[in-house]
Amino acid sequence: MSGIWVWLEQFQGKIPSVAWETLGVARRLADAQGTAVTAVLMGDGIAALAEEAIAMGADEVRVMEHAALADFRLEPYLAAFVPHIREGAPQAVLLPSTARGRELAGGLAAELGTAALVDVIEVSVEDQRITAVRPIYEGKLFARTYVERTPAILTVRGRAFPRPDPDPNRKGEIRSVAVALDPSAFPTQVLEWIQEAEGEISLNEARIVVGGGRGVGSPEGFEPLRELARALGAALGATRAVVDAGWIPYKYQVGQTGKTISPDLYIACGVSGAIQHLSGLRGVKVIVAINKDPEAPIFKVARYGVVDDLFKIVPALTAELRRRGL
Ligand code: FAD
Repeated sequence: MSGIWVWLEQFQGKIPSVAWETLGVARRLADAQGTAVTAVLMGDGIAALAEEAIAMGADEVRVMEHAALADFRLEPYLAAFVPHIREGAPQAVLLPSTARGRELAGGLAAELGTAALVDVIEVSVEDQRITAVRPIYEGKLFARTYVERTPAILTVRGRAFPRPDPDPNRKGEIRSVAVALDPSAFPTQVLEWIQEAEGEISLNEARIVVGGGRGVGSPEGFEPLRELARALGAALGATRAVVDAGWIPYKYQVGQTGKTISPDLYIACGVSGAIQHLSGLRGVKVIVAINKDPEAPIFKVARYGVVDDLFKIVPALTAELRRRGL
């Protein structure tokens, strides 16, 4: 068993930051063991991304191109990937902890008779074994685990590790790998992609998130938060209470039954700080809370707190940021 492989997720020819962070983790693991990093690119018309992968830390890039791989679907991606993993026998396969990465990780583990550790936030090599730490029980506990079988399948949580700096002088090997797939053999077809609103920043990748809770009072109450988010280049988040009320779509929900976010800054506006909401904030570095109630539990986890009406504080913050030209 040798080498660390990374599935370099791409969507319409773009690689998300978390995939580069995953490549950075693979590089560290490979260096600790004196082995090589192989990045696997799958899609159609994506070969040009291989050079970038070398610059970001891969020693080898395997490019699998086929019309059946143009859009992510579990079945063709597994059919293309699994035989190469069997043949290459890597020690571990790392994937970004995105919806697709997690889906593929589960499929790979099942096909290869091994196990997947999802959402890892720390990795190390102990006694020649790859050991990972990941949150369990909604982040109340952390489990240090290793996979006894190979390859170990790990998905890496976004923004838990640094993104590597590109080195355009790095050298590596780019291999085009033949893929034989029968497109009619797969039971699903992607009909269309429905784009999020233009210019929106994804909650998973945002460095700053402005979150709104029931304190915003109505769907229109999100407007000042949107303004603040625009001024900060931030993403918008929400509690389940406001999603259930139909004030904002589910894709904004943060928490146990929504998204887990890891921005540097989370500004919670009119959010009480229920445990189910906080479980989505475990990776946040600094929480700022704006709430009328000084007893609100959010203040127990906030680094900075403002006890006041959000409709007074949020527009004032936005105006001050604009005044400073930020
Ligand atoms: P509230 O608890 O009603 O808090 C509103 C806050 O706004 C209050 O603290 C109030 O003081 C403040 N406020 C009011 N007006 C103003 C104003 N003008 N200015 C400033 N502050 C003001 N919740 C999630 O968020 N995410 C989840 O994923 C999730 N999953 C759940 C799963 C389960 C199984 C269960 C049982 C619950 C889940 N919940 C989840 C719901 C959770 O328990 C809370 O009910 C919810 O988070 C509360 O949302 P909130 O803070 O918006 O509302």
